[in-house]
Amino acid sequence: MTAFEVSVCASCGRAAFPPRLVCRHCGSLAWRAEPEPEGVLRYATLVRRKLAANQEAAPPRVGLVVTDRGLRVVVGVDEGAESGARVRLTERGGGVYAEPLAATDGRGGTEA
Ligand SMILES: [Zn+2]
Repeated sequence: MTAFEVSVCASCGRAAFPPRLVCRHCGSLAWRAEPEPEGVLRYATLVRRKLAANQEAAPPRVGLVVTDRGLRVVVGVDEGAESGARVRLTERGGGVYAEPLAATDGRGGTEA
């Protein structure tokens, strides 16, 4: 498990996820990776359709997180993370996951 990272343009500072070859704002080809540790889980849902490769697995939860830089990321949603709440973003097994933050963080953060 590692911290979630996004690409940040070395020229204009705009962030992108997934990574891009060319910055759509300034045309630069230079990028650096920066951690994007948190965001707001906008919604979460269960995928009830059985996948042929894994009939025995529990239905996975997936959702959409809007990160603190405004990037939209489709994630796996860990137990305890609820729609509207701030979440911690991590990468593991090739995917991005939303974990619940401490219950004292409240709901919604600064997002409208
Ligand atoms: Zn740029």
